[in-house]
Amino acid sequence: MRLLLVADLHYSLPQFDWVLDIAADFDVVVMAGDHLDLASMVDGRAQSVVVRKYFDRLRAKTRVLTCSGNHDLDAKNDAGEKFAKWLSGSLPEGVLSDGQSIVIDGTLFTACPWWDGPIVRAEIGTQLAEASNQRADRWIWLHHAPPAKSPTSWGGDRYFGDVELREWIEQYRPDMVLSGHVHQSPFVKDGSWVDRIGPTWVFNTGQQFGAPPAHIIIDTDAGEALWFSSAGNQYVRLDQPLERPVPKLTAIPPWLKAADQPHLPGQA
Ligand SMILES: [Zn+2]
Ligand SMILES: [Zn+2]
Repeated sequence: MRLLLVADLHYSLPQFDWVLDIAADFDVVVMAGDHLDLASMVDGRAQSVVVRKYFDRLRAKTRVLTCSGNHDLDAKNDAGEKFAKWLSGSLPEGVLSDGQSIVIDGTLFTACPWWDGPIVRAEIGTQLAEASNQRADRWIWLHHAPPAKSPTSWGGDRYFGDVELREWIEQYRPDMVLSGHVHQSPFVKDGSWVDRIGPTWVFNTGQQFGAPPAHIIIDTDAGEALWFSSAGNQYVRLDQPLERPVPKLTAIPPWLKAADQPHLPGQA
């Protein structure tokens, strides 16, 4: 399975267009939250209409898996906790989102919502407990915030990660957790786009302006995860222990088709 991970597009339409352009080269495209931007001049409802149209166009090309981030919250539950109503329920068919799980080619994907309070947080606990019963060969979580005390949530002077997520990872030991949220983590000293907690690989794409967005390509057959960004490209082998510093990607692996990497240095 070949997977593209992006997060924190924050209503950057050139970045959405870039994802749309290369989506067909991937079995799965994961968009791990903060699709919208609270600081945008464009009204939040109008943003969500545009992004749903992108989801619709993307699902014509591949499987689309999403979850909410803290910029995506447009409603409140009875307890006054914010949640992403526009990402629940009525998404285009074939687009996975908050609270849902799906098995694709032997991999169980579970999409967790952003939690704003104890009710939604408890719902995630229930969701993971239930999903653990249908665990497949591989289990991958989408969770916008990365775990606490990880280089993937290091902001340069403190950690911004999720304490409960870290506990859930230690309890369930999923194969991978796909995140975003802490935009600067991969770009600052002692931060990173990748971490390992027990057997679990944790990823945070990081955020940069313009197209392409910082992104991660994972190929489970090749057993590799590659990170592409304006600050350089790195890779890990999923069957090996994590080494730091994480090695630079100096050559394109043969499994990665030319169409997948129009953004590498020295190429048009
Ligand atoms: Zn963000
Ligand atoms: Zn965020």
